[in-house]
Amino acid sequence: MAKGNQKKSNPVNISTLSKKELIEQAKKFSNQYCVGNGDKFRLEEYKTSVNFDLGPEDKPLVKKTLQLGVNALAAMQDILYAQDKWSLLLIFQAMDAAGKDGAIKHVMSGVNPQGCQVFSFKAPSAEDMDHDFMWRCLKHLPERGRIGIFNRSYYEEVLVVRVHEQILEGQKLPKKLVSKNIWKERFKDIRNFEEYLGRNGIIVIKFFLHLSKDEQKKRFIERVDNPDKNWKFSAADARERSHWKEYMNAYEDMIKNTSTEKSPWYVVPADKKSYARIVIVSAILHALDEMDLEYPKASKEKMEELQAVKKALLAEQ
Ligand code: ATP
Ligand code: MG
Repeated sequence: MAKGNQKKSNPVNISTLSKKELIEQAKKFSNQYCVGNGDKFRLEEYKTSVNFDLGPEDKPLVKKTLQLGVNALAAMQDILYAQDKWSLLLIFQAMDAAGKDGAIKHVMSGVNPQGCQVFSFKAPSAEDMDHDFMWRCLKHLPERGRIGIFNRSYYEEVLVVRVHEQILEGQKLPKKLVSKNIWKERFKDIRNFEEYLGRNGIIVIKFFLHLSKDEQKKRFIERVDNPDKNWKFSAADARERSHWKEYMNAYEDMIKNTSTEKSPWYVVPADKKSYARIVIVSAILHALDEMDLEYPKASKEKMEELQAVKKALLAEQ
């Protein structure tokens, strides 16, 4: 069965779940879209939309589910921040109009902005091009206790750069370093880099928002027709669409070669935005639950000090 072909029967009443049960459900749910070992990965086995139709009567349930996830995420982020040891890097990659921006906005809506850092990576600047491809991303890795979000990332180096090889020619690499093995070499460098980050307490999870070509067309037309959305659209986006097949091949090869148990890819069905957001928040809860998160405990000396301060405050006139 293709991944994510969910039946609508036996819905779990999530409102009544304990925090632990909610996280167990989130893990089970997000696992369907998780690629931990990419060896046998084939993109065609993953759907862009789920098999059940959500009617208008399901809207409150969908909203409620996302809200519960967002609340749980906010609570866990508070501990992540207080503990100040782990950090989480969320990477978003997708074709245009797949909903990266909206997903980030909604999923992170409950999170304390102090503990969250978002960076969008556009075409590299002249200064970026004077460095290795990781350079500009290294500067924006999340500090301990933070959630970092990369809206596009170093993965563009095996996506847009692979689809448009003239970009690679412009990268000023020494000629003898550019061989037909370059993509395999980049995959290896990325795997090693993410392993290195993991060993330093920076956990990386990656989301590919898997959109159908038809749904992209609908969203592009909406961006042209709706004046408030005109700013989101450019002719360049439409040009990239004409390379759809090459992009899908590049995504498939990327996921195959850079999915690891510790830094998995989630192939998120993205044709329904609300569903995609629930998958994403579930995967984040899963990743945070793997960390041994707890509020720092005050030492005996610290407790004595706090009690002394309290006593002094209470004694004030
Ligand atoms: P939206 O989904 O709203 O269109 P976006 O992330 O596509 O947002 P844009 O400003 O439209 O933002 O596009 C950024 C462009 O920069 C993308 O086409 C992307 O492929 C390109 N880009 C990002 N990193 C690199 C890179 N390393 N080399 C070349 N191009 C890159
Ligand atoms: Mg764009």
